[in-house]
Amino acid sequence: MTAYETRAAELRELLNRYGHEYYVLDAPTVPDAEYDRLFRELQALEEGYPALVVADSPTRRVGGAPLAEFDSVVHAVPMLSLSNAFSDMQLADPAERHAELIQFDERVRKGLDAAEVEYATEPKFDGLAISLLYENGVLARAATRGDGVAGEQVTENVRTIRAIPLKLDGANPPALLEVRGEVLMLKRDFERLNADQIERGDKTFANPRNAAAGSLRQLDSRITAQRRLSFFAYAIAQVAGADWPDTHGGEMAWLKQLGFPVVEESLRPVVKGVAGLSAYYEDVMSRRAGLPFEIDGVVYKVNRRELQDALGFVSRAPRWAIAHKFPAEEALTVVEAIEEQV
Ligand code: NAD
Repeated sequence: MTAYETRAAELRELLNRYGHEYYVLDAPTVPDAEYDRLFRELQALEEGYPALVVADSPTRRVGGAPLAEFDSVVHAVPMLSLSNAFSDMQLADPAERHAELIQFDERVRKGLDAAEVEYATEPKFDGLAISLLYENGVLARAATRGDGVAGEQVTENVRTIRAIPLKLDGANPPALLEVRGEVLMLKRDFERLNADQIERGDKTFANPRNAAAGSLRQLDSRITAQRRLSFFAYAIAQVAGADWPDTHGGEMAWLKQLGFPVVEESLRPVVKGVAGLSAYYEDVMSRRAGLPFEIDGVVYKVNRRELQDALGFVSRAPRWAIAHKFPAEEALTVVEAIEEQV
C-alpha cells in the first residue's frame, strides 16, 4: 500500500466511526470542526488520486444507517446532504477570504451559462432533518433522513412537536405534500433540559443538536413529548394536487401560508451573486450569538426551481446549493461537555 492508500483507509475508518457516533448514537466524541477537517482531507486525497475512491467512502454517503428499532421508510425523493464551503475570516481581501464561495458561484454560473444568479439564503439550522408527509392536508408520516435512501419512521414522536402542524391551514389542501425541515432545540430549552437532567442525576447533552436528535429518536413518544422541540421548514420534496411554486422563495411563502414555521424574513433574503451572498454571510455571523437557536453556517440555494433541476446532483449533494460554514466556535464547548460526562 502507498502512503496515500494507508492514509485514505485511516481517514475512512475514523470518519465511519465518528459518523456512527454522531448520526446513529447521537453521541459524538469529537468536535464537528475535527470531523470536517478529516472529511476535507479525505476529499482532497480522493480528488488528487481518484483510484483511492471506494464506493462506500464517507465522502460518497449521507448520514448513518437507520436504527433497526424503528420501522424503516424509503424516501420517495432521496434526502441528500449539502456540499460545504468555508471562509477564512482572518484574511483581509474578500476575494481571498471567500474564495470557496466564489468557486461555487462560478460553477453554478458555468453550469447555467448565466452572467448572474439569484440565490435564496437561509440559516443552516443545527438540528436534524425531517421529512413530513401530508395526505389531503393531514400529517400522515414523519421520517428522519437516515442514510438518505431510508430513514426512521418517527410519526408518533413528531406529532408531539407543537410547532409542526397536524393539519394544514387553508380550505383546499394539496392531495399530497412532502415538506422537509429541521427539528431543533432552542438554546433556552436546551439549557433547561440539561439543568433538569442534572437535577435528576441523568446524563447531560453535549449540545442542542444532540439533545434534539436524542429526543426525537425515542422509542417512547412520551419522552419526546416532555422535551421542547422546535421546527423550521426549508424545502418541499413532493406536491400533488396543487401548484408547486417555481422559486425557493415562493415555496417558503407558501409553506408559511400552510401553517409551517419558517425563519423570519430578514434571515432569508433572496440575493444576487457573490456580493449578495458574502454580505448575508457576514450579517448573519454578526447576529449568530443573539439568535434563539444554534446555527453552524448559512445555506444558499439557486432560487429558480427549473435552474435547480438543470444543475442536478452529485453523489451526496445538490449542485445548486451549498452550506457556507461559520468558523468553529463550539469546538471547545463540545469537548468540555464530553469530558464532563466521562
Ligand atoms: P450537513 O449538516 O453539513 O448538511 C445537510 C443538512 O443540513 C441537511 O440534512 C439538513 O438537516 C441541514 N440543514 C440545516 N439548515 C438547512 C437549510 N436551511 N436548508 C437545507 N438543509 C439544512 O450535512 P450532514 O451530512 O448531515 O452532516 C455533516 C456535518 O455533521 C459535518 O459537517 C459535521 O459538522 C457534522 N458531523 C459531526 C460529526 C462528529 O463526530 N462531531 C460526525 C458526523 C457529522
